[in-house]
Amino acid sequence: MIIDAHVHIFTDSIAEKAITRLAQISRMPYYTNGTLADTKEKMKLWNVDAVLALSVATKPKQQKTINEWACATQDHRSVFCLGTVHPDAPDAAAELERFSQLKLYGLKLHPDYQNFQIDEERLFPIYDAAAQLNIPIVFHTGWDPLSPDFVHAPPALVAKVAKLFPKLTIIAAHLGGMKRYDESEEFLTDLDNVYLDTAMCAQFCSVEQFSRIVLKKGVDHILFGSDCPWSSSALEIQFIQKAHLPSPSLDLIFSENAIRLFHLPIKN
Ligand SMILES: [Zn+2]
Repeated sequence: MIIDAHVHIFTDSIAEKAITRLAQISRMPYYTNGTLADTKEKMKLWNVDAVLALSVATKPKQQKTINEWACATQDHRSVFCLGTVHPDAPDAAAELERFSQLKLYGLKLHPDYQNFQIDEERLFPIYDAAAQLNIPIVFHTGWDPLSPDFVHAPPALVAKVAKLFPKLTIIAAHLGGMKRYDESEEFLTDLDNVYLDTAMCAQFCSVEQFSRIVLKKGVDHILFGSDCPWSSSALEIQFIQKAHLPSPSLDLIFSENAIRLFHLPIKN
């Protein structure tokens, strides 16, 4: 079974506009048109059984509507959604309390698109609430094409937050820091409450460093994710297969860790 734990889907009405704008920023090719229907088609093609869809409110007033859309979009079989809050929304921490009612499986925060540095104190009430409510947080970490000259969540600061909030479960996307793999290896491999996803590694990480980080971190702390539509699950799966990890580890990475961490109602 393969679960892609890092996928982006947009509402049908904004998908085209969103993909066009984001593709301009990232200058990356894209592998779906951003809609749920096309994502499902491609996942079939790529032999992916389920996806975790990550959305981000870029304005405070969007958080409720996006969370309600996510709740209505997921089917709890092949499509699972994380929710969003915006750090500038006065009711961000309160919105987290609605996550269990909306059956959202976790929270995605994107420091670049939500304009914060990961260790800013104004984020702490959100981290506190997420820790108390047992809501795992997926952070975009490392480099991002939106602000290429300033990294909002470098691995050292991810480690700082993980130590300040030991009860918080952190999934640091992009192997702990896109294009910051040396620092990820240095600061994040020994922290038990930090998990890493594999999104975009096929594009930016060498297979040697990838294997080293995965083995150092421990295969029970690695989740398969692609960052689709900005990469394809197929490409990222091929890359992981090149790392020659023992096959029981692949089951953990491709599905079992995500099921356990996000409490997905899937029988493996
Ligand atoms: Zn992403």
